[in-house]
Amino acid sequence: MGPLRFRRRGAYGVTAEPDGPEDRLRRFATIWSRSVFPVTSTSLTRSELEEQLLPLARRLRGALLERAFDADTGKAVGAALVDAHCTDPEALSRSLDCVDAYLVLYCGEDGPQEDLRARAARLQHAMAAGYAQALRERTLAEQEAIAQAALRAQGVVAQALHASEARFRAVFEGAAIGIGIADLEGNVLQVNGALLRMFGGSEQSLRDRKVQDLTHPEDAPQTWKLYDELVRGEREHYHTEKAFSRPDGTALWTNLTVSLLRDADGAPQYSLALMEDTTERRLLNLRLRYEATHDALTGLPNRTLFFERLEKALGAGAGQRFGLCYLDLDGFKTINDSLGHAAGDRLLVEVADRLQSCATAPGEMVARLGGDEFVALTTGPDTRREVDDLAARIMNAMIAPVRIDGRELTVRGSIGIVEGPAGGRSAAEVLRSADITMYRAKSAGGNRFELADPEADARAITRHGLTTALPAALDRGEFFIEYQPLVHLGDGSVRGAEALVRWLHPQHGVLGPDRFIPLAEHTGLIVPLGRWVLEESVRQAGEWRERGGDTDPLRINVNLSPCQLTHPGLVQDTVDILERAGVAPEALCLEVTESALIGADDDLLKPLRRLAEMGVDIALDDFGTGYSNLANLRRLPVSVLKLDRSFTQGMQQFPADPVDLKIVEGIVSLAHSLNLAVTVEGVETGAQAEQLRILGCDTAQGWYYARPGPPDRLHELALVDATG
Ligand code: C2E
Ligand code: CA
Ligand code: CA
Repeated sequence: MGPLRFRRRGAYGVTAEPDGPEDRLRRFATIWSRSVFPVTSTSLTRSELEEQLLPLARRLRGALLERAFDADTGKAVGAALVDAHCTDPEALSRSLDCVDAYLVLYCGEDGPQEDLRARAARLQHAMAAGYAQALRERTLAEQEAIAQAALRAQGVVAQALHASEARFRAVFEGAAIGIGIADLEGNVLQVNGALLRMFGGSEQSLRDRKVQDLTHPEDAPQTWKLYDELVRGEREHYHTEKAFSRPDGTALWTNLTVSLLRDADGAPQYSLALMEDTTERRLLNLRLRYEATHDALTGLPNRTLFFERLEKALGAGAGQRFGLCYLDLDGFKTINDSLGHAAGDRLLVEVADRLQSCATAPGEMVARLGGDEFVALTTGPDTRREVDDLAARIMNAMIAPVRIDGRELTVRGSIGIVEGPAGGRSAAEVLRSADITMYRAKSAGGNRFELADPEADARAITRHGLTTALPAALDRGEFFIEYQPLVHLGDGSVRGAEALVRWLHPQHGVLGPDRFIPLAEHTGLIVPLGRWVLEESVRQAGEWRERGGDTDPLRINVNLSPCQLTHPGLVQDTVDILERAGVAPEALCLEVTESALIGADDDLLKPLRRLAEMGVDIALDDFGTGYSNLANLRRLPVSVLKLDRSFTQGMQQFPADPVDLKIVEGIVSLAHSLNLAVTVEGVETGAQAEQLRILGCDTAQGWYYARPGPPDRLHELALVDATG
């Protein structure tokens, strides 16, 4: 049976959920306690544990829904798990699984799910970090306690030894930690049950060995020096972390305290070892380290580990070189948008596997930097030739199509190569150069590799440069908006305008949105930038309204990026902006691309639906370029279709392509039957406009009417049109 899934209340009122948020929180705590209870060493019952977890669940919910992310809450919850005796590594792992699978489901709100998922993932990291930290602190405290106990035991054992064999036995056997006694030559005299259980052999097998035989390859250098000092009577005790080899070949890791026992006259007589098994905890720490340095999706080393290795390669001695291939998949976003994230993920996993098989020699490594960006590194004296081979192997490995859901997907990538001697540049500089070079390969058409060229690097308006300049540009007010009129095809009147953002870059002049919107989407700056565009253009619409007097108020169209769609503040921000500007929701139209809505589930559509219910129009932009099913349109809260420019282009020649005409005619009649208005883009000639009018399109936009321009010009156009 798969995990329990309940349906959220959807648009059609399907419901099987328990009532309030408290019930859902309780359910989450129940599931959580069920999952960790079996691996918890506590005297609590399952439902008592649930009571302990409930406040933690509440804190997680708070952190999930809080506006700003607060890692401390996650850490505190992780630490609280240690306090609740959930110290078995499995308890952490199960808790993280539980948060992963159920937190958003039971504690999420209506907001965009992607966002909540991302938040839940960050919470898991914080929990793991808090857990590890608390465990470390507890271990230190326990070590301290053991050292104290050892001192006490030293006295007790010494007395017991002198008093009677029977009393000695009692102290010895009852202890929960491992205890062993050896003479000064290292002959093991006594070991207790706890110690035997840790080693997992017979008592005889241990007693046959000498202390000096218990070496382990990972012994710290001073371990045996300390022991020698102790048996010579030069120190009373020492404390260390030490591994032992078990009979079955596995390692036993311990916190070890060794004390010297003296006879009644004060002469050294025995060594007493007290040890606590830390093997599990160590494994947990290794696992946490692994998780911090590997990508969860593909299992490849992540950016952190890659930087460590690159820095090491760059710090290698004279004669050593490095070669780096920086790979970015071509067109990955389209696959992700059209086939969905699950398919995108599977593609990435397949690419990761293929890359891995390209870099198996010593000194080579492959890592995933994030998204669809990978790197392959080769190191050694001879990387000049090797790096070319490596790039060629990678290109080769990508040739075979990837099968996903019965489809054959062609994978292509662009590679930027940087090669050079160790010691010259920093890791960040090398990576930057590789990134720029990769971008050059991409601009040259993709599916190729290019070699870094320092001069070209400097000349290029780099993606990197633009990306890093973006946030400051928003603060400095370097963005501005041009408005392109939307014209009614029936009577030629101006009905509104689309807001199109531009960047007045201090060095490169005016940059169009195609140059920086993808970068802003990549870095997340699109959210504040998009909010600014919305605010500024709605304010502008308010101004037109005031100046327009009795004429029909101009409407404003604003583009929304997919990232804005999933941002939890979208609805509230839009409402606030409209209210502040005194503009009615009916005057606003938000344009969303078809590809952003493909495969969208109800959660993603919810904010749009809300806006639509308030009266905001939603337009499906670039319609006809995606693969969306026309029947799907009914499901979407859209009221306008914006036919992509490519259809208009087909109408440029005379007579127009009959197939194009049929298609447009079909779309228009379908749209109208669904009560959708149709806008056409890219109208450049009067003939096109006439043709589109005959086909029944409602409004049009294009150079034939006006190029995008300053807000005042639009206002003039509208006035001319109203009076003339
Ligand atoms: P879009 O939404 O499809 O915008 C229409 C694009 O077509 C604009 O390019 C416009 O200048 C251009 N165009 C208008 N009339 C004609 C014509 O007659 N012929 C031709 N060939 N082109 C015409 P622009 O301004 O470069 O914008 C490109 C894209 O950038 C937009 O495509 C839109 O997707 C995106 N964009 C623009 N502003 C924003 C924004 O504020 N936020 C977001 N997220 N995206 C934006
Ligand atoms: Ca648009
Ligand atoms: Ca468009």
